[in-house]
Amino acid sequence: MKCVVCGVKEATVYQRHTGMALCRDCFMEDIIKRVSNEVKRFDMFNERHKLMLAVSGGKDSYVLLDVILKLHDPSRVGVVSIVEGIEGYNRAEDLVRVKGLASKHGVDVVVISLKDYVGLSLSEIVSMSREKSINVSPCTYCGVLRRKAINEVARDLGYDRVLTAHNLDDEVQTALLNVLRGDLFRLVQLHPKGPLLSSLFVRKVKPLRKIYEEEIAVYAHIIGYEFQTTDCPYLRFQPSLRARLREYLYRLERKNPGTMLKFLNTLDEFLEKYLSKYVSYPELPKCLNCGEATAYGRKYCMACELLMNLGVEKPKYLRLSPRG
Ligand SMILES: [Zn+2]
Ligand SMILES: [Zn+2]
Repeated sequence: MKCVVCGVKEATVYQRHTGMALCRDCFMEDIIKRVSNEVKRFDMFNERHKLMLAVSGGKDSYVLLDVILKLHDPSRVGVVSIVEGIEGYNRAEDLVRVKGLASKHGVDVVVISLKDYVGLSLSEIVSMSREKSINVSPCTYCGVLRRKAINEVARDLGYDRVLTAHNLDDEVQTALLNVLRGDLFRLVQLHPKGPLLSSLFVRKVKPLRKIYEEEIAVYAHIIGYEFQTTDCPYLRFQPSLRARLREYLYRLERKNPGTMLKFLNTLDEFLEKYLSKYVSYPELPKCLNCGEATAYGRKYCMACELLMNLGVEKPKYLRLSPRG
């Protein structure tokens, strides 16, 4: 069968949500075009911006880097990765491929461990937490500290945007979670033009948010990414509602291809109107310990509070100075 777009090459990829059979080249072109359209539609970044990609080393971050290098000047791209430090799980190995792709294009890579950043690895934090019988999941410590570190690294090094590799499946799960929990505040922040709540935040954007996870896997395969990442041993502590939604959405999408994409497009349009008319939030207050932004009505930021509950008296964080 020939590709339905070019009509020349052999079709090797079936694109479920459009029902089209495409050749590799037309498939890749379609992904890049859709990412580029999403970036422009929401003004995610422009050619002058310095972009910092927050990467884990998995296939999504590898694809994000590949796509961004096709859309943006590599001299204005950087990569940051925060290594959690989990016993029996060496993510530094997963980073090898991303690092290889980055260095081929002369892109800076910054790798920081949580141990460097805050003096404790995730494994140490989790065992302190268990000793004190604190009911906080490893994913919470990890997520809070990583988000804080990435924002500070990007700001310290003079980047204009932080790019994350969240895909369509991730984004729809998060949107539905916020709807089901009645969390309008978080739902609004999911929109690419959501309010920037603090002048200390570097704006975060998600260029792959309209690309299915399945498509990213195909793209990764085409560009030669080998799948052999190890799963995080704390995976089973992830919130179960998200896991159930993921399963449900997967089945829904099989029966009605294109559902997730339509849902997110509708939500975007709806929130855009809502944002332009009804939403204005004051600047977030600053943490009394570290000076970074914290939620309304709080004295300390989540990171400082979590660490203080573990017995760390005045948490200190690594700061990087801008490069010349
Ligand atoms: Zn084609
Ligand atoms: Zn703080």
